[in-house]
Amino acid sequence: MHVNYHLTLKNLKLKATPKRLAILEILADEFVYLGPDDVWRRMKTKFKRIGLPTVYRNLEELSEGGVISKVVHPDRKLYYFLCKKQEHHHHFICLSCRRVEDISFCAEKEIEEEVAGRIQGKVLSHILQINGLCRDCSDGEER
Ligand SMILES: [Zn+2]
Ligand SMILES: [Zn+2]
Ligand SMILES: [Zn+2]
Repeated sequence: MHVNYHLTLKNLKLKATPKRLAILEILADEFVYLGPDDVWRRMKTKFKRIGLPTVYRNLEELSEGGVISKVVHPDRKLYYFLCKKQEHHHHFICLSCRRVEDISFCAEKEIEEEVAGRIQGKVLSHILQINGLCRDCSDGEER
């Protein structure tokens, strides 16, 4: 783990507080998305008196700053993960085990053509999150 989070936060004009750095380290160690309560439980080993609202607030600030990503989950709860990949890409999330995988496929060109043609608009950005079951989780399913 050699990512310089101090620098990342500074570039985003977010203060590199010990709590923010601890949250980033917790998320960086994971291959799954975590809810605020998961992060909170882990934070408590280091910050004994930390409250859940503080964790909520810090996660939201990091997400708004673009340091971490927020999952749009069908259960409508909040989940976050940290992706270190810089290039434009998307994510596959497993709804069962919460695994997050990078997806490099992007239909950017087709989307732009569709928008330009059908509604004569211009695409500025897009969000794509693919929900599903990973291989391990779909093994037990009927095919
Ligand atoms: Zn899974
Ligand atoms: Zn990613
Ligand atoms: Zn894309």
